[in-house]
Amino acid sequence: MPFPALLFMLKHFIQNVISISRNGKKTPQPSIYYNFPRRFLFTSQKFKPIAFYSIVALTETRVATLRNVLEKELSALGVVGRIYIAPEQGIGGINCQMAVPIEKLDTVKSYFDGFKNDFGQIEYNEGIEDTSSPNFSKLRVLVKNNLVSIRQHVTTQDLAVQPHHLTPEDWHSQLSQKNEDLFLLDMRNQYEYHFGHFKHAIKMDVDTFRDGIQLLDELVANRPKGDDIYMYCTGGIRCSVAGTYLKKKGYENVKMLKGGITAYGHYIKENQEKPSLFKGKNFTFDGRRGEPITNDVLTQCYHCGSSCDHVTNCVNNKCHLLFVQCETCKSKMKHTCSDHCHNVLKGIEEYKLDYDYHRQVAKAW
Ligand SMILES: [Zn+2]
Ligand SMILES: [Zn+2]
Repeated sequence: MPFPALLFMLKHFIQNVISISRNGKKTPQPSIYYNFPRRFLFTSQKFKPIAFYSIVALTETRVATLRNVLEKELSALGVVGRIYIAPEQGIGGINCQMAVPIEKLDTVKSYFDGFKNDFGQIEYNEGIEDTSSPNFSKLRVLVKNNLVSIRQHVTTQDLAVQPHHLTPEDWHSQLSQKNEDLFLLDMRNQYEYHFGHFKHAIKMDVDTFRDGIQLLDELVANRPKGDDIYMYCTGGIRCSVAGTYLKKKGYENVKMLKGGITAYGHYIKENQEKPSLFKGKNFTFDGRRGEPITNDVLTQCYHCGSSCDHVTNCVNNKCHLLFVQCETCKSKMKHTCSDHCHNVLKGIEEYKLDYDYHRQVAKAW
């Protein structure tokens, strides 16, 4: 990098850091501040994790426009995260996972009010805890064919017939009454289930949602069409699709948890006298790798087997395995998943394994 450019960046960096420390409320210039990797900033900036999805019909042209507008304008507000948008030919609409600077939360919500014609009335799912390290280095807005991956051809119009959305309160009361006499499907991947799940939930023994939809056929095969089928996922979008799929097959009483485990977590936090029917951690795909709903730890360290639910990434970039590792093993293994990866980093072995999608979260249960 040329020396004057380096000086310019250094000057702005110092100005911004000083402006934060002198005045905690002041918003620094987004273009430079937010593009800096957050781990280099000594700031107490807090972010609110928020998510929402909306299955709506958008034309391809509108999707292309929205991609550019949202990325530019939300980045300027300091929002980081990942947004998917898709046109109506597939599972169309928007699926957002963002970390929003706390002081910009109202601004961002009113910003989306301006898109009512596109996304309808948005129902936000806020994270349970704020974070100062969102682990998204910037905002990425990506165009996809479908908001969730699925083998079957499903259009946005097909999804108009939604399963019955139960509020966390109704969900809690119906599940409490039914107890074991309940057909309850955890529509997430098997590793998400292992970090935390609802009592009596059936685990989908799959690594992808596409495989989960296949498995649904087998699981409901012998059930009468009028039976109650309960299902839940992290934020609701997977059940919006899977529930519709079952309704189309003739199952009339499909009920999903509105807002998913995230919304249930808020309900339990606000109603502490009620015993949580969900035990453990709600796994999330952002930098937090999950937030605890209860203090139960259901997983173990990948190396020593001690009780632990801290998810980490192998620092060998060719491996990048997600796995559970306790602090002792982390320092012993130098943040790697195996002796092999440790040796690769030391430069004494060549990396031998191919990246395998199914290894994304190593077995820790
Ligand atoms: Zn360990
Ligand atoms: Zn590794």
